[in-house]
Amino acid sequence: MAGAFGTAFTPFMAVSHSDTNGVFEPVSIEPFGPISLSPAAHVLHYGSECFEGLKAHRGKDDGIVRIYRLDAHIDRLVTTAKIMHLPCPSAEVIRQAIYDTVQANLDAIPAQPDSAYIRPMLFGTEANVGAAGHPSLSACFMVIISPVGEYFTSDTTLRIVVETNMLRTTPLFGRAKAGANYALALPPTMAAIEQYRADQVLFAPGGDIQETGASNFMVFHDNTLITPPLSDAFLHGVTRDSIITLARDKGLAIEERHLRVDELVAMAPHCEAALTGTAAIMAPVGTLIVHGEETQVGNGQPGEITMALRTQLRSIQQGLAPDTYNWLTPVTA
Ligand SMILES: *Cc1c(COP(=O)(O)O)cnc(C)c1O
Repeated sequence: MAGAFGTAFTPFMAVSHSDTNGVFEPVSIEPFGPISLSPAAHVLHYGSECFEGLKAHRGKDDGIVRIYRLDAHIDRLVTTAKIMHLPCPSAEVIRQAIYDTVQANLDAIPAQPDSAYIRPMLFGTEANVGAAGHPSLSACFMVIISPVGEYFTSDTTLRIVVETNMLRTTPLFGRAKAGANYALALPPTMAAIEQYRADQVLFAPGGDIQETGASNFMVFHDNTLITPPLSDAFLHGVTRDSIITLARDKGLAIEERHLRVDELVAMAPHCEAALTGTAAIMAPVGTLIVHGEETQVGNGQPGEITMALRTQLRSIQQGLAPDTYNWLTPVTA
C-alpha cells in the first residue's frame, strides 16, 4: 500500500541535463536520490519550473502495466516549456524517457486499486543570479514516479469556495503547468480553508467560471455536460478531455461554454458538479460557497453521472474495458 499521496518513490528516476545551448545529454536512468544543483540555478531564484502528472496502472486481470494518455501529457509539457522559454527535450525523447522510467520500475508499479503517479519535470539550471529578466539558457529534465493509493473515498463531497475577484494566475500562464501557478493560488486557497473549512477554491474572475488551483470544473445538468471552453486562461486537462469523450459516447449533450456563477448557483439544486484531474479523476462537489453563502449541489452526495463516468474511465485504465480511443501505452519488461 502506498503512503500519503506523493510521499513515496520508486527506485529509479530519469535525468538529462542540457548545455547552455539547450542541447540535452542522453537521458540516463539512475537510482532515485538527491541531485546536484548550483545554488545560483535559475529555478531557485526566478521560478523556471514546470511539470506533468500522469499515471500508469497495472491491469486488474492481466497484470500488464499501461501508461494513460502519454502523448497528451507530452504535448502539454512541450507547450508549457514554450510558454516558459525553457529548453525542452523533443517529444520523442520525453516519450522514451517516461517509458524507460516506468520499465525500470516495473516491479514497483503497484496492483489495483493503487497506481503509479508519474511526474516528469523540467527546470532552469543556468547558474546566473543576474538572469532575472532572461530565460535560463540550460535546463534539467527528470522523471520520478510515486506509487499512490486510490485518492477517493466514495461518500465524501467537496466544499468549494467560488472566488469572483482574484485570479488563479496571470492570463499568460493559464495554460502552463508551472509550479509558480500553485504558489499564486495558495493564499486564496489557504484563506478559504481557514474561513470556510473549504477543500478548494474555484476561480471565477468577474463571475466567469474557470477552474480550481489544480483541477478543471464541470457540471451535469439535464443530461448535458457543461464546462468552460478551452482558452489560455486555464489548464487544458487530459481528464477533462477524457470525460467529455466518454460522456459524448454515453449520449450526453456537451456544452463547452462560459458558465456564470449566478447560473451555477441557480442550477445547483438540480445538477451534479465535479472537479477533474489525474490524481482523483473526478471528485464530486457537494457544496458551493459564494460570497459566504452556502448552496448545496444536488442532494449533497456524489452524483450518479459523475460516479458512472468515473467508474468507466477507471475500467479503461485498469484494462477491463476496451481501449477504444488508444489512450493506453503498455510497458513490457
Ligand atoms: C494538472 C492540472 C489540471 C488537471 O489536468 P489533468 O490533465 O486532468 O490531470 C487542471 N488544472 C490545473 C491548474 C492543473 O495544474
